[in-house]
Amino acid sequence: MRHRIIVLGAGYTGAFAAGRLARRLRREDVAITLVNAEPDFVERVRMHQLAAGQDLKSRPFSGMFAGTGVELRLAKVTGVDVDRKTVAVAGADGAEELGYDTLVYALGSGWNAQGVPGTAEHAFEIAGRPGALRLRERLARLDAGQAVVVVGGGLTGLEAATEIAETRPDLDVALAARGGLGDWLSSKGREHLRKVVGGLGITVYEHAAVTGVEADRVATADGRAIPAAVTVWTAGFAVHPIAKATALEVTGTGQIMVDGTMRSVSHPDVYAVGDAAMVMGPGDKPLRMSCASGVPTAWQAVDAIAARLTGGKLPNVPIRYFNQCISLGRKEGLIQYVTADDRAVRSALTGRLAAVYKELVCKGAAWGVANPTFGLPMRRRRVTRERVAAGSAVAASA
Ligand SMILES: Cc1cc2nc3c(=O)[nH]c(=O)nc-3n(C[C@H](O)[C@H](O)[C@H](O)COP(=O)(O)OP(=O)(O)OC[C@H]3O[C@@H](n4cnc5c(N)ncnc54)[C@H](O)[C@@H]3O)c2cc1C
Repeated sequence: MRHRIIVLGAGYTGAFAAGRLARRLRREDVAITLVNAEPDFVERVRMHQLAAGQDLKSRPFSGMFAGTGVELRLAKVTGVDVDRKTVAVAGADGAEELGYDTLVYALGSGWNAQGVPGTAEHAFEIAGRPGALRLRERLARLDAGQAVVVVGGGLTGLEAATEIAETRPDLDVALAARGGLGDWLSSKGREHLRKVVGGLGITVYEHAAVTGVEADRVATADGRAIPAAVTVWTAGFAVHPIAKATALEVTGTGQIMVDGTMRSVSHPDVYAVGDAAMVMGPGDKPLRMSCASGVPTAWQAVDAIAARLTGGKLPNVPIRYFNQCISLGRKEGLIQYVTADDRAVRSALTGRLAAVYKELVCKGAAWGVANPTFGLPMRRRRVTRERVAAGSAVAASA
């Protein structure tokens, strides 16, 4: 009997995890199944580009995983029963239950309306492809001079506002930020950001906490009403409710609590990676939802699974940050170097070079997904029956 490993979600972290599992473990020992709702890889980090009207490269999974030993299942995950060790999926052939021995949960996140009134009815979002395509279609119908307000001064908000303003200079683009514009950046980074944002004609509303969204405006806590034919909501991400509906130990927001090997603290057969996991990073700060820290969580989980199944050494690689890569349209960018725990240091790369750097980072991540078993040596190890039995015993007593 092969050890059954199911990876849920083929975003950046799930796809990386499935490929790395195939490299680390032997086909005769493990059956790896990757479940994803969509037939192609969605480059979430480019959703603002898609919304602004750019066409993204099509990246079908069928070709990517062919010959890797990873079985791809196109189906929507509708539930997970961590006590019975089953996953409920709904695909073209109807509803089905899949059994696992080890589960890697990588279902990512969506947008976070944060309970602000009117957001669900009137705001657009770019956390995933359907939202980005909806916004794209709406932006295309806007006439010159109409107002677009991007809510959220974080990385996604900055990327969205600059991308839209660069593509549609005829629109009146504004950015509403809860704090000061780029107030977490170094002074060099902040200055550059102000220069680019000003150059693109974006109106910035600082210290503007948005308290309501209507069809034609957004309201702020200090009583302002900012005209908005389109409101783009980018204030954070929220995980899907699936994990919260299980017996897994999760945070109040539904992220799965894991240890340093990305193993669930309540169910040892379950690993969680990427946005779906609550991972403590350097300085005992939770990692933020990002590819930058999410992909290393996938590596760590896979190396831990392989080590536990084969008797190898458990990985203990601290997950840290190096930089924040921010695109500011297609011609400008900002690479803010940071400490291990994500605080800005003085140096930053700006301008055209930063835009090229960011583009290479995005291309590199997509290349890694598209070549899941390429690059690393094939350190495939035998799964030992004793190890599997020991793992099951731990699971049973947990
Ligand atoms: C516009 C934008 C720009 C960003 N820019 C950056 C950046 O520059 N740098 C950075 O580090 N991060 C960036 N991020 C954040 C980054 O995209 C996420 O943190 C990252 O995608 C998380 O990876 P993940 O694998 O956990 O989840 P995801 O990439 O979201 O993948 C989840 C996968 O699970 C699938 N799925 C979800 N639910 C189900 C279900 N019920 N059934 C089956 N399949 C399902 C999805 O289809 C998807 O394939 C950006 C995000 C956005 C939206």
